[in-house]
Amino acid sequence: MIVVMNLNASSEEISAVKSRLENLGFQIHTIEGVKRLVLGAVGDRKIVSSLNLESYPGVEKVVPIMKPFKMVSREVKENNSVIKVGDVEIGGPKVVVMAGPCAVENEEQVLNVARRVKDLGCQVLRGGAYKPRTSPYSFQGLEEEGLKILAQAREETGLPIVTEVINPQDVELVASYADMLQVGSRNMQNFALLKAVGTAGKPVLLKRGLSATIEEWLMAAEYIIAEGNYSIVLCERGIRTFETYTRNTLDIGAVPVAKSLSHLPVIVDPCHSTGNWRLVNPLSKAAIAAGADGLLIEVHPNPPEALCDGQQSLSPKNYHRMMSELKPFIKAAGRC
Ligand code: PEP
Ligand code: MN
Repeated sequence: MIVVMNLNASSEEISAVKSRLENLGFQIHTIEGVKRLVLGAVGDRKIVSSLNLESYPGVEKVVPIMKPFKMVSREVKENNSVIKVGDVEIGGPKVVVMAGPCAVENEEQVLNVARRVKDLGCQVLRGGAYKPRTSPYSFQGLEEEGLKILAQAREETGLPIVTEVINPQDVELVASYADMLQVGSRNMQNFALLKAVGTAGKPVLLKRGLSATIEEWLMAAEYIIAEGNYSIVLCERGIRTFETYTRNTLDIGAVPVAKSLSHLPVIVDPCHSTGNWRLVNPLSKAAIAAGADGLLIEVHPNPPEALCDGQQSLSPKNYHRMMSELKPFIKAAGRC
């Protein structure tokens, strides 16, 4: 439920409501709105009616949250959340492009891409050091060595880095290098991992599961918030359907749906959605038109030689072309 406090509620009145609820086992999240303070209280719905909270001094009203996801819901927070990754703000007026190779392969590859994309409007560098591959015989990533290369690229370019973590035991190590932790599609319902990134003190990029409903995706975000980490960006990356011409099907409708249900920013990954670099440009335009707060783009200096996902990676030249073509779409969407 949401407890909306009066405009002039005193700190004693707020504390009295909080401790009453905490004593009854509720988890309390304090949300400072533009005008007033709101308490999000997650706990046993059955005891709420007997509480008579509305009679407490300082309480304006009590509103039940009908959705199964609570703290990620717009019911709790009307305004868009703006998530900071380094100095970059995601969910504000700017469409944020995160770009870089699928996998970190070596220093030269990452630095080469990082310099090029930085000059072409990228604000966050991506790159996988731990790769969740379908086959155990495929390249699995450089692990900590890859994290070091990413950190070096950040040092040189100033771009904050987002990188995937696939194992709860590695969260601390990955968080010591990364500016943002990526939870990949295959791990969207790895609840131990969600809890671990929830306490890692770094923003999280939460990709939608390959076959997850929007509700399951938001419930996964709720796991992270429940641990106290509010810095979450959702990423639609295509879902599995009967269609075989594309690797996955970009669920473009999920963008406005997730944004209407949740205050969290939503970005789109048109590369994993399609598995085809030729489709990345048109679907990026569609994503921006649908209200996406950003894009996650795979860029490789030489896609045919990439160790991972070359067929869906843009060359720097194609990335350049796409970024110029996106400009009028960004403007038309009222963004910058
Ligand atoms: C990735 O972004 O490198 C990745 C593996 O994506 P997904 O989890 O969406 O498949
Ligand atoms: Mn990839």
